[in-house]
Amino acid sequence: MVAPEISLPITNELGFYEIRLESIGGLGANLCGKILGEVGTLQLGLNSSSFASYGSEKKGTPVKSFIRWCNPDQEIRISTPITRPHLLGLFHEALAGKVAVTAGVTEETAIVVNTDKDPDSIRDILKLCAGKVYSIDALKIAMEEKTRVNMVMLGALAKASGFIPLEAIEESVDNAIGKKYPAALEGNLKGVRRGYEEVVCKEYDLDGKYEYVEAKEVKYDWGWDNAPIGGLNPHVGSMISNDMLAIREGYVPEFIKEKCINCGLCDTACPDMVYQFVPGEYRNKPAMVNLGPDYHHCKGCLRCVEVCPTQALVAVKERDYDLWNIHVRNQELIVDEMEFEEVGSSSIVDTQSYENETETVERGED
Ligand code: SF4
Ligand code: SF4
Repeated sequence: MVAPEISLPITNELGFYEIRLESIGGLGANLCGKILGEVGTLQLGLNSSSFASYGSEKKGTPVKSFIRWCNPDQEIRISTPITRPHLLGLFHEALAGKVAVTAGVTEETAIVVNTDKDPDSIRDILKLCAGKVYSIDALKIAMEEKTRVNMVMLGALAKASGFIPLEAIEESVDNAIGKKYPAALEGNLKGVRRGYEEVVCKEYDLDGKYEYVEAKEVKYDWGWDNAPIGGLNPHVGSMISNDMLAIREGYVPEFIKEKCINCGLCDTACPDMVYQFVPGEYRNKPAMVNLGPDYHHCKGCLRCVEVCPTQALVAVKERDYDLWNIHVRNQELIVDEMEFEEVGSSSIVDTQSYENETETVERGED
């Protein structure tokens, strides 16, 4: 145990110090939450509980991770979502506006955001009523140190807490990763340290610029309790509600059309149906022609780059590249108007049936 004498500097009326991580599938918030849970128990000598909320979906869908700590003479007998966090981690600024990721933030909250912007800009983007805003360019550091965003965020979260020692995080990262992936440990530890050292903070009082946002439970139009029974989504991988823009690890495939021979290998290798092929002509013969990738659904795994036989696809740094100039939307996922189809045990649900899937309504109002 690194710091047996630690005592929580602030708790809520139930005696808990609470941490909430807001992310989307693919950025590692779940592992980050598990490590923080372990830090609480094994490194800080506290009682600790960590749990996450996410669906069975793939990358790109909302993920919340919750960590609740209390002093060792108290027990944790609740596992409710954390609505008023003392420490909030936002794994990507692009999460702002999609779900109420900043709900429950008060002037007591420390908010750590993965961003290349300064705290003033972040406060305006997130419309924060108050709080201590910590900004850290976790993606850039992760790329430089060959680690993941979640490791950099761990270091930044420790610093923002004001009481979690860097050594406690390092030891738990060593426990979680060192044995399983020893070659990756050094890069991960460097990421943790740089997150701790490079995070920048600015504090905001309740000045009335933005309103306090209450945490509310939200419900998708189609959820476990109201989705039609049966049906099949024939568009494996991509969906209207999945926007991968925030989950990539800094790299994307650039498409060089002049080098493409329309062999279709990229389409076969891509797990997310990102490439858009249309009937056309190649070498004076009818052919399916590659228009390029739809970056809304590309998670940046670069499998397509590996298989392309003509180097028509190359890995580029996402930030250095004007993605949207040759961006091609997946026509089947562009939605102007939709009609729900009758569904049954053997019917097909078109992807267009997912209209309004991302709109949320308060429970009890529908
Ligand atoms: S990097 Fe390539 S293979 Fe991976 S999701 Fe994007 S387009 Fe598909
Ligand atoms: S693998 Fe390369 S050459 Fe083949 S269709 Fe894809 S981009 Fe074109």
